[in-house]
Amino acid sequence: MKLIMLGTGNALVTECYNTCFVLEENREYFLVDGGGGNGILRQLKDAGINWKKIHEIFVTHKHVDHLLGIIWMVRMICQYMNQNQYQGETRIYAHEEVTALIREMTPKLLTEKEAQFLGKRLHLISVEDKEERLILERKVTFFDIHSKKAKQFGFCMELGKGQKLTCCGDEPYNDWEEAYAKESRWLLHEAFCLHSQAEVFKPYEKHHSTVKDACELAERLKVKNLLLYHTEDKNIRNRKSCYFSEGKNYFHGNLYIPDDLEVLELEEE
Ligand SMILES: [Zn+2]
Repeated sequence: MKLIMLGTGNALVTECYNTCFVLEENREYFLVDGGGGNGILRQLKDAGINWKKIHEIFVTHKHVDHLLGIIWMVRMICQYMNQNQYQGETRIYAHEEVTALIREMTPKLLTEKEAQFLGKRLHLISVEDKEERLILERKVTFFDIHSKKAKQFGFCMELGKGQKLTCCGDEPYNDWEEAYAKESRWLLHEAFCLHSQAEVFKPYEKHHSTVKDACELAERLKVKNLLLYHTEDKNIRNRKSCYFSEGKNYFHGNLYIPDDLEVLELEEE
């Protein structure tokens, strides 16, 4: 299985795209979040992913840097369904508040011809906390991260041989998520900025964490591979090296700070 980072930045970035990614296996794709708009199409194109092959989508929460790219996906998919150029069905998973929002917005935003596919071939699927679904033929468990801002879900995907990939969304881990995050082979976690620059970027005011925080957490949870995303973009050229040199002091597994469009092989043992 491959993880393709489409975007790695926080909501306000201009030097990269907002955090969203694709999991790929056997030419099947699972898109997680859409970033803030039409840029999703550019990122997919540059990643060499044919968006018409995307049939499984998950939206973590309703913030515009995650949701609005999904509206673009819905628009494109319905438009191409109408032209007989998109085959099969689409499933968009999210908690009830998000599916309700998409269900309310899209008929008003799409043409009548496009909107006819909503609920018929494009399905909005509300998932509950701890609900399991089969996606890319793997068990995925969605879970409530208990955000104090907007209700948000993360997910845990089984990778086989008891290994798992856990995505904590775009807020710091809390103990509700322990059963999923602990001993993950892959942990995807936000890090707004370096700990050494917390005074500049004020991550805690925004309910985010630093590289050091995320690395200490992953060390404590015995994670094997830690991937940091949803960062600031003020020094994007050196982000990877700066974040890595801070993080390696606190985390002794494999630390990844991907750039947009970077591809990671999620090899299994
Ligand atoms: Zn966000």
